[in-house]
Amino acid sequence: MQIVCLDMEGVLVPEIWIAFAERTGIPELRRTTRDEPDYDKLMQYRLAILREHKLGLPDIQKVIGEMGPMEGCKAFLDALRLDYQVVILSDTFYEFARPLMAQMGQPTLFCHGLEADANGMLVNYHLRMPDQKRHAVEAFKRLNFKVIAAGDSYNDTAMLGAADAGILMHPPENVVREFPQYPVVRSYADLRAEIDRAAARIIQAA
Ligand SMILES: [Mg+2]
Repeated sequence: MQIVCLDMEGVLVPEIWIAFAERTGIPELRRTTRDEPDYDKLMQYRLAILREHKLGLPDIQKVIGEMGPMEGCKAFLDALRLDYQVVILSDTFYEFARPLMAQMGQPTLFCHGLEADANGMLVNYHLRMPDQKRHAVEAFKRLNFKVIAAGDSYNDTAMLGAADAGILMHPPENVVREFPQYPVVRSYADLRAEIDRAAARIIQAA
């Protein structure tokens, strides 16, 4: 029994904060953990900017809905889900992901949550648990699943390391250099082929 765990941003949909900053013309929202390594500070900064611009959850969801998933994503997921159990492991928030999930056929998503006030203004965020991608993979393995995981960046490497097989999907060059143990793919066709190869290897080893 095999589960495929997929990262969301950079693999299935664009980087949400960056695409959101571009679409709204608010460059301050392009700040990432590379600029501000303290995640809590970064999130409080982002929420303050959204409030400053009077952007409540409905406005934010409308913009995110217009981004849409990446080209070919829906067909890739639909076909993958015929042959594997698929779970998306993401560090985004359910409230942000909702309009994208609707366009992706409502796959299973494990992520975090946001808190809005009565006016829809975001007042806080709630991480379901730290390092949830790795914990999810380890839990699936304890449930006797074999896990194939794919992601694009540093926040995926613990998940890839915990999985029975890890794959990098259009990763930046520094991640390719630092994690040469993982195959690199840059299209959904190649990702699917690599998943099938990993699945065959796992069956053979069993
Ligand atoms: Mg990503």
